[in-house]
Formats: sequence, C-alpha cells, structure tokens
Amino acid sequence: MSARVLVVDDILPNVKLLEAKLSSEYYDVLTATNGEDALKRVKQDSPDLVLLDVMMPGMDGFEVCKRIKDDPVSAHIPVVMVTALTDTADRVRGLQAGADDFLSKPVNDTALMARVRSLVRLKMTVDEWRMRENTASQLGVLEEKGSLMDEPVDNARVLVVEDQNFEAEKIAETLHVDDDIVIPVESGMSAIEYSSQHDFDLLVISLNLRHEDGLRLCSHLKSNEKTRGIPILMLSTENDMDKIAHGLEIGAHDYIVRPIDRNELLARARTQIRRKRFQERLKDSYEVSISMALIDSLTGLYNRRYLEVHLQKLLNKNQDMNKKLCVLVLDIDHFKQVNDTHGHLVGDEVLRTFSHRLNDNLRSFDLVSRLGGEEFTVILPETKEDMALFIAERLRRSIEEKPIKCSTPEGYINITTSIGGTIVEPGKYSVQEVLGRADKCLYEAKETGRNCTVFEKIGKLDPAKYAQQDIRNTKFE
Ligand code: GH3
Ligand code: MG
Ligand code: MG
Repeated sequence: MSARVLVVDDILPNVKLLEAKLSSEYYDVLTATNGEDALKRVKQDSPDLVLLDVMMPGMDGFEVCKRIKDDPVSAHIPVVMVTALTDTADRVRGLQAGADDFLSKPVNDTALMARVRSLVRLKMTVDEWRMRENTASQLGVLEEKGSLMDEPVDNARVLVVEDQNFEAEKIAETLHVDDDIVIPVESGMSAIEYSSQHDFDLLVISLNLRHEDGLRLCSHLKSNEKTRGIPILMLSTENDMDKIAHGLEIGAHDYIVRPIDRNELLARARTQIRRKRFQERLKDSYEVSISMALIDSLTGLYNRRYLEVHLQKLLNKNQDMNKKLCVLVLDIDHFKQVNDTHGHLVGDEVLRTFSHRLNDNLRSFDLVSRLGGEEFTVILPETKEDMALFIAERLRRSIEEKPIKCSTPEGYINITTSIGGTIVEPGKYSVQEVLGRADKCLYEAKETGRNCTVFEKIGKLDPAKYAQQDIRNTKFE
C-alpha cells in the first residue's frame, strides 16, 4: 500500500531531494514550503507521515508540529523533524512538541527509509482501530476518546535489557522522574521470562549485549503474542546504523544512540508509552462498545438490537434456502410479584438463571436474546415443526420443574414462563411481522392460564404429550 508523505522545508532543493528519495521507494509525496501551507495540506490531504524542517522563516517546525499534535483530527499523524541541529536540547523541544522522531541533515538514507516505514506501519495500526471505533460510534455507544497527547505517561512498567550496570542504573534513575517501575535484566533469557509473566509498557533493549544478539531478542519479542504490542526502544551506538535500521525493520519503534542523553531518553520513552496507551485504549473501548452495543449486560445474552439484525439475515437465508425457522417469545409469569415480594436484586438473579437455563437447553447455533424486561426470544434455525414444539415445551418445563436458586430466605423461588411460538415458512417476512406473530401466541398463552406454550395455527400444546419424551438425548436435526 502506498503511503502519503508530506515533506515540509523552506529550501526547495531540500524538498526535491527528499521527494526524489521517497518517490523512488513508491511513496506518494506532497510538499509544502512553509508552516501555514504545511498545516493546510495536513488538513486537506491527511498524510500518513510528515517530514518537517525545524528552521523555517515565520512559523518554525516546533510550532507546526505542536499544532498538528494539538488538533485531535491530526494528532495521530506521525511527525519526523528533519534538522541540522544536533543540540539535544532542541531534540527534546521537538519531542515535547509531540514529534515522533528526528532525522539529522544530511539525511542518512537507511535511517530515513527505516524510520518512514516503521512510522507509517504504526500509523496503519492506529488507523485500523480508529476506523473500527468509528463504526462503533455509529452504533451510538461511544463517548469522546480524547487525543493522543492527553494520554498519561507516568507509572509505566519498563523492562530494561542491558548488561552494562552503569547504563542500566542511569536509565532507571532517569525514568524514575515519571515514577516508572523499571525492571533491569542482563540477558535475553530473563527478558523473555519476565515479559511472559508481567505486563510492560515499554522494552528498552541494548543492541550491544556482550553474549548475545539484541536484534534476535527484539525479533523474538515482536513475534510473541503477549509482547508484540509493546514498543521497543533500542540502545545502540553511532556505528551501528545498519543494526538500528534492521531493528526498525523488524518492528522496534525507536532508538537512542549512546552516550544516552537523559532528556532525550525521557522524551522518547514518554512518546512510546503514550502511543501504546492510546492504541490500547482505542482497542479496549472498541471491544467494550461492541459488547455494549450488542450484549445485554445483566444476562450476557444478545440484546434486541442484535436480534433484529441477525433475525433479518436468518429470514433472508430461510427464503433463499427454502427452509423453515422457528421463533419463540418467552415471558416470565407474574414477574412483577417477584420484584415486589423479594426486591429487584432477586429479580435480577432470576433473570440471570432463567437465561442460563434457556441456553443450557438449546443447541449452540440456536439464538437466545433478551428483548427487554422479562421477555426473551429463542430462534431455532432450520427446525422442523414437531421438533420445535418439543424444544419449546422442554424449555417451559426446564423453568417450571427446577426452583431457581437466589438470595431469598428459603434460598430459592419457583417461577414459570409462558411461550408463544411460530414456524416461519420460506418467504419474504420482516422481523417485526415474525415477532408480532409469536407475540400474539404469547398473549394467548397468558390469557389461557400462563405456564404453557401456544403455537400459531396449532394452539395450546398439551404438556402431557411432550412430557413423555425427553428429547435431551435424542439426535437433533
Ligand atoms: P405476566 O405474567 O402477565 O407477564 O406478569 P408480569 O408481572 O410478569 O408482567 P409485567 O409486565 O406486569 O411486569 C414485568 C416486571 O418486570 C415489571 C418490571 O419491574 C420487571 N422488570 C423489567 N426489567 C427488569 C430487570 O431488569 N430487573 C428486574 N429485577 N425486574 C425487571
Ligand atoms: Mg411477565
Ligand atoms: Mg412482560
């Protein structure tokens, strides 16, 4: 996939040079020659990466970077500052403005390409979650997520793999400023052991270990399910540019060249920790919002929204495949009395056990959902009529026959349920129509004394007829 890179520099030959290098690697290149233009392009074209010159007349690179990162719409776009400055104070200033990395002029090709590739890849992952989050918010259940820069950076758990004691100590001391918990280890073996047992926010790995290859360790951690999402910050020396490039290639996120500058270390560690936490939050909130959108939190059953979408699919399939489908609607009898007598919490316990009991008496591909209150539906796909009647009666009996354990003085209560059922022949039906048909039968079941099953076109089932044959162990079709 071709990524779009915005190159910003006030000196045209510099722009052209970077444009040529990136184009030859098949990136789409956009250009701007001042800060205002750069911001405009970021807004209009939302690039996947910005290469930003620091020294520009008017608005300088720090300011442009800060504005990109302050705007929630563009905060996730990685920014690399390209600079002739070697002063670490300036680097730190850039990182504080939210820059994701620095490249020194003249730009080293290996570093440029490795860095661009790694940041673009990182952005793709974040984009994927942002997109899913967007779908989730269309389902109407997502609150505002804030931006990357709002993410806390303190109290991180950091694993440091370094066999030179004074370096390990220096790192621990530096990260202590943020109250990070730093675990130092000296070998890849211990790193693998620790990281498999504990959760970390950042891995700092030396590429100059005396007895082993730090890159091999990076590669191992990147291929392991538990650790692959944790950012890796490599420690190396100026002459190890090839190793660094290789590390970025296999998925390490960043590097620091020795001698370690404390401010730079702190800023780079924070950037990685912030990104990881942001990414994790997007993922978690997506999962939560999906389950909030589709699962009833009290019973763990699917909710009405899910049922409506899914049942329509089943109905369409029914029509295409010329099959029959059974729809049951269940409503607990006199449930209001349970609440009135024992309180709402006992009512909730009953609803939960009721739900489990339905599930226990059905096949895995039957669909149980909670329509709301004490009303449930059961969909039995591809089920013949006589089988459907058996199953409905079995469900009713499973509730009636066994008291429900709950926190009343006796420790249990007895309840019953009424059931309305309909067999849907192949044809063009809407969810509302089908549920309406079953609902009408349910109403009849309530009218004719409750604790019974009424089927459309068949009427009230005779429990005696179905009680004789427990089909629990008979073969399902
Ligand atoms: P019927 O036999 O005619 O169905 O009578 P019923 O009392 O079961 O029906 P009704 O619709 O009058 O009352 C339903 C009750 O269900 C009223 C409501 O407070 C209770 N309810 C609905 N949702 C919940 C819930 O999530 N938890 C609890 N504990 N009660 C609920
Ligand atoms: Mg009821
Ligand atoms: Mg009701």
